[in-house]
Amino acid sequence: MPEPLSVITPIEFLKGIGPKRAEALVEDLGIRTCGDLLFHLPFRYEDRTRFHRVAEAVPGPVQLQLRGTIRKVNEVKQKRGRRLEAEFFDEDGDRLPLVWFKGVQWVARNLPVGQPCVIWGKVSDYKGGRNMAHPEVLSLSEAQSASSLHPVYSSTERLGRFGLNSGGLGKAVQRLMAQLRKVHGPEWIQETLPAGILSMRGMPGLTSALEQVHQPEDSNAERLGRFRLKFEEFLFLQLLLVQHRNQQTQDLPGECFVEVGAMFNRFYKDRIPFELTGAQKRVIREIREDTRHGHHMNRLLQGDVGSGKTMVALLTALLAIDNGCQACIMAPTEILAQQHLAGFREMLGDLPIRVELLTGSVKKADRKPILEGLEAGTVQLLVGTHAVLEPKVIFHRLGLVVIDEQHRFGVAQRARLWSKAQIPPHVLVMTATPIPRTLSMTVYGDLDVSVIDELPPGRKPIRTVHRTDAQRLGVFSFIREQVEQGRQIYVVYPLIEESAQLDHKDLMDGYEGLTRHFPPPDFRISIVHGRMKPEDKDAEMQRFVNGVTQIMVATTVIEVGVNVPNASVMVIESAERFGLSQLHQLRGRVGRGANQSFCVLMSGKELGKEARRRLETMCRTQDGFEIAEVDLELRGPGDLMGTKQSGVLDLKVADLVKDRALLEDARDIARRILREDAELKAPQHALLKTGVERLRAARPDWSRIS
Ligand code: ADP
Ligand code: MG
Repeated sequence: MPEPLSVITPIEFLKGIGPKRAEALVEDLGIRTCGDLLFHLPFRYEDRTRFHRVAEAVPGPVQLQLRGTIRKVNEVKQKRGRRLEAEFFDEDGDRLPLVWFKGVQWVARNLPVGQPCVIWGKVSDYKGGRNMAHPEVLSLSEAQSASSLHPVYSSTERLGRFGLNSGGLGKAVQRLMAQLRKVHGPEWIQETLPAGILSMRGMPGLTSALEQVHQPEDSNAERLGRFRLKFEEFLFLQLLLVQHRNQQTQDLPGECFVEVGAMFNRFYKDRIPFELTGAQKRVIREIREDTRHGHHMNRLLQGDVGSGKTMVALLTALLAIDNGCQACIMAPTEILAQQHLAGFREMLGDLPIRVELLTGSVKKADRKPILEGLEAGTVQLLVGTHAVLEPKVIFHRLGLVVIDEQHRFGVAQRARLWSKAQIPPHVLVMTATPIPRTLSMTVYGDLDVSVIDELPPGRKPIRTVHRTDAQRLGVFSFIREQVEQGRQIYVVYPLIEESAQLDHKDLMDGYEGLTRHFPPPDFRISIVHGRMKPEDKDAEMQRFVNGVTQIMVATTVIEVGVNVPNASVMVIESAERFGLSQLHQLRGRVGRGANQSFCVLMSGKELGKEARRRLETMCRTQDGFEIAEVDLELRGPGDLMGTKQSGVLDLKVADLVKDRALLEDARDIARRILREDAELKAPQHALLKTGVERLRAARPDWSRIS
């Protein structure tokens, strides 16, 4: 005897589906089981209580519903394939031609010719008259049960050919719910949320929620039903993430930084040339709290460009050093590592702390004493690039690793780090890429994320303008003025892999154009691009850093971290081709000194809607988090942070951008529940445990991104 129909029954066995449709459902919509179909929710609703007459049917984007009869069906051969034509007559006898170009055979076979029916679709102007292409056709009885909230489902062209367009999917869902009801009774699907949680937010049970979303009684019931489904999706995700995070941090030992000692205090009292911002102080407190209990710290520090993350890194390093540990700061590029080294040495001044640099280009002879010092523990602070991960680099007692300007630090790299110490060193990852709160909350369960949301006082906002290519001469004369005042200029070109050849040519053309306008010896221009050898790149970059050259023409290689306070203008060529976060990063290269700074976004005249929105956003605000929110809205979460493949953000019902308040609510509840019952052992949490386990099993790779 076959198993009774349930949510785990393969969709193939639902009446009217079969193997061929099942295959298309999996491939096109990811629907494998009956349960998957139940969670393929309508994305909008239509009012199907009103009927129009042909005489008053106006062409346009609005879908209309007409009652009448279909006659004279006719298949017509055309250049490619066939089309199907038919005539519809309403109750007044007025005629409206119908036409289908796709799924012709299926439609022809299923049209209720000569019988009263209802058609639904958009009316178009056609050859001086009107017609309706691809109407949905319903029998009168189907139409009578229609409501003012008729569900509309997303479908594909192929599924449409199989009779599974929106209407067909809707019918399949109704059939499925009716059968489940017959087999399992009025509560035809097992509840997944504890009663306590349902009542806490006044939410309906799962059966009722699904019924109300697929076939709403009224809009209120639909909203409540959907609310419940979204809430559930967020809650289980948050339970999973928070639980994972708790385990990661609680189970691992970490060096215990009990005391704030001599180096920290002396530095704090005598050497910091400014007052820390409130946000910097708060973050230091958070780090201190994290590292004093002997648990491993794994913290992400987000702070906009120029918000003073380096100072936080240095103070944390001093904390480690005061507690007998070594600290290591890793930068993504050689130049940045050198800048950090110079900055640290200067700031530390006469404090007895040995700081060394280890990068790929440190010569063998110079390397030896550094490696020895690290192993002996006499080098307390190491600044470097990925070279510090090499097996030859052995620490005496590494207690802290700071990773600058990166929001992802791979599992493999982390493992290599951990192999360098008996107790895994605390990890502080710093990034200027603002990750919208919603996203970090989803991905990190909002644990261990610190934010510097305040810039040091006295920063002048960067003036940002948008100019088209036609205004280039004006931009050049502005550059000239600035250079004559002693300022330095960046001119950045896009480099996209797919169009690398053309992009390189643009860069070179641009460089030539600039050289013509700003000829030597009065002007000196640097160029840096991906085809140069790393040494040459660094040398050229260094010339600009040292003020030897006044204009830096580059592809996006300068994006990360470089600090040239004297640079006051950032010109971004073909700005419409950059993403928002990149534009923001690039702009952050200026505005670091005392002078008024500028950002000029160059583009062609014709701009797409999204490109326009990006450039407008840049001109309007300098707030990295606000920019990140717009970015999230424009691109969706998948693209951000390379989380696309991870599947973490494949939400079925909820929407990270629109439902963020709900996400926060679910997160708070998840944390509260786990604080009381970390492993969900209590009987009233049994359903939650089942749900989390199911999610964990379905997403085995999700933890890779944290
Ligand atoms: P980022 O967060 O982009 O790494 P940095 O750490 O490079 O920023 O800081 C940018 C500049 O701001 C540096 O010159 C730094 O000395 C300065 N700075 C940092 N904190 C403060 C502060 N509290 N008050 C004034 N200037 C500060
Ligand atoms: Mg920095």
